[in-house]
Amino acid sequence: MLLKDVIGQQKIKNQLIKTVKEGRISHTQLFLGSEGSGNLALAIAYARYICCTNKTDGDSCNTCPHCTKYQKFIHPDLHFVFPVNTTKSVTDKPVSDDFIGKWRESILENPYLSLNQWYDIIGIENKQGLMTVKESEGIIRKLSLKSFESDYKIMIIWHPEKMHPPAANKLLKLIEEPPAKTIFLMVSENTDQILPTILSRSQIVKIPKIENNDLAGYIKDKFGLDDKKSKEIANLAEGNYQKAAEIINNTEEHENNLEKFIQLMRLCYGGKMLEILKWIDEIVSTGRERQKSFLDYSLAILRKNLLISLDKSELVYLSEKESDFSNKFHQFINDSNAFQITQEINKAYADIERNAYGRIVFLDLSLKLRKLIRKQN
Ligand SMILES: [Zn+2]
Repeated sequence: MLLKDVIGQQKIKNQLIKTVKEGRISHTQLFLGSEGSGNLALAIAYARYICCTNKTDGDSCNTCPHCTKYQKFIHPDLHFVFPVNTTKSVTDKPVSDDFIGKWRESILENPYLSLNQWYDIIGIENKQGLMTVKESEGIIRKLSLKSFESDYKIMIIWHPEKMHPPAANKLLKLIEEPPAKTIFLMVSENTDQILPTILSRSQIVKIPKIENNDLAGYIKDKFGLDDKKSKEIANLAEGNYQKAAEIINNTEEHENNLEKFIQLMRLCYGGKMLEILKWIDEIVSTGRERQKSFLDYSLAILRKNLLISLDKSELVYLSEKESDFSNKFHQFINDSNAFQITQEINKAYADIERNAYGRIVFLDLSLKLRKLIRKQN
């Protein structure tokens, strides 16, 4: 991960480069940025820039021995700590090192990965990831050794809010006064759950969302999209690379949901009961996940149509097909029915989730929508 591999964020990159050039690298920094902003990617690229022995003004060299090892995340002076828990194969007192192979593989493939994706990868199922006292003892041990190859020892802690308070307490002294040339880079999405004792000892590097143009340019190349499509998706993703990647993978589902939604609204408005029943047969045959995805999508498109009705269309981003449809449809969504429609869809979602009989849930929903959609302001 070179700095140039991180999507956009030129301002932050310049700021980080400057700290290295001017020799004012803070020993404890918190890279704070929302999901998909690239906070982890930036921390890794920054760590590498610090250690590269042949760096230029703008990036690491990519060829020195440090860069070569950083490229595969196997540099002996680069350490990672991240939330883990017991799994089928690691059953006793899990720590990051038990999962380091999987971690390297995962961030090599996608340094924008989310916490939930990571939990899926290691298979901790419904448990939360955490960092225990045993983890802290490991950190202290590693950092008490002399550095092996680089001048700097760098410890990247991903999601420090998952640290147990006793584990964090063990680290306080070290974080406050680390040995010379030891750097903590913590990476998190918000400060809410980070222990105040950790927070107060960290210098915060605020990472904004990725700018639309930068994101559009990146996904255009990476996924081979045309100009228009890449801009459309970057707008929808709102500066979150993870979300953009998800949208690209879900485009087909998205279009399918829109088509189904248009059909249902027309049928409900026309009150054609037999055809509604046919529509229900179809959606019920697609399985629960698809049904939930349809309801989720319905909520989103309704919200957008309400905003258009309220003359707030500048807040709404629609794909071309959605826009064609919403041009007329928004007249049917207003102050007096939007809340109830939303409630009914939410209820249907909850019912599907707890395994209620799909045919009844959708029949019930259609009957309500039939009434609500004709309700005028
Ligand atoms: Zn280098």
